[in-house]
Amino acid sequence: MINIQKNGLSFFQFPNLAEYPGICHGIFTRKGGVSSQPYDSLNTSLNSGDLETNVIKNRSLILQCLEIDNLFFINQVHGTDIVVLNKKDCQPPDYPVTGDAVISNIPGKNIVIQTADCQAVLLYDAHKQTAANIHAGWRGSIQNIIGKTIQKMEKIFKCNPAHITAGIGPALGLCCAEFINYKKEIPEKYWKYKNNSNHFDFYAVSRDQLCNAGVLPENIFSSSFCTKCSSSLFFSFRKNKTTGRFASIIGIK
Ligand SMILES: [Zn+2]
Repeated sequence: MINIQKNGLSFFQFPNLAEYPGICHGIFTRKGGVSSQPYDSLNTSLNSGDLETNVIKNRSLILQCLEIDNLFFINQVHGTDIVVLNKKDCQPPDYPVTGDAVISNIPGKNIVIQTADCQAVLLYDAHKQTAANIHAGWRGSIQNIIGKTIQKMEKIFKCNPAHITAGIGPALGLCCAEFINYKKEIPEKYWKYKNNSNHFDFYAVSRDQLCNAGVLPENIFSSSFCTKCSSSLFFSFRKNKTTGRFASIIGIK
């Protein structure tokens, strides 16, 4: 991933998405914010236990950094509801909305997914000027929230999956994604992603789900970070339990 320093903050971009001037995107780390332990420091979640004033300040630091005036948050619940922001709709959804993915073709709506070990999966169809941001934790992953979001992009926004560019953000790696109770928690069709010590490769699950939905392998960029191994850089729930959430953002300019 590309590391960028701008207006006092550092963030990452996916090289394949960075080629498009029509979008704004960034994966922020836990560094550069104002929150104190255990939310140090760029925590963007109001539901983590952190002080609201600090979270609001952190969010404004991100706005300044990206030189944008708007962040669109959803109330993430590990489900598969997909929020649609369509400029053709006169009535936008009531805010705040609950869901685990957002699709938008509205310029200036910058969609945020907040994570600490789950994946944020960023999608962009340059032909249809449509972007999506998906919260793919293991619960969403085994319900194929990625495939469902792409189906909705096709149906509502007439996107062609072959035109979609995808980035899979920093998340728990195979090294740390241990599921002791996998026989109860994870459907058998996903057991092929398990190694001999009950660790699952959810990066591979997401790549396969993107490809099965019609995204071309050459248009997918996958982060190689493991959030637990890199917990000084990213918030990790498995590492710290009580911790913050880092922000992954994409929006049409
Ligand atoms: Zn790891």
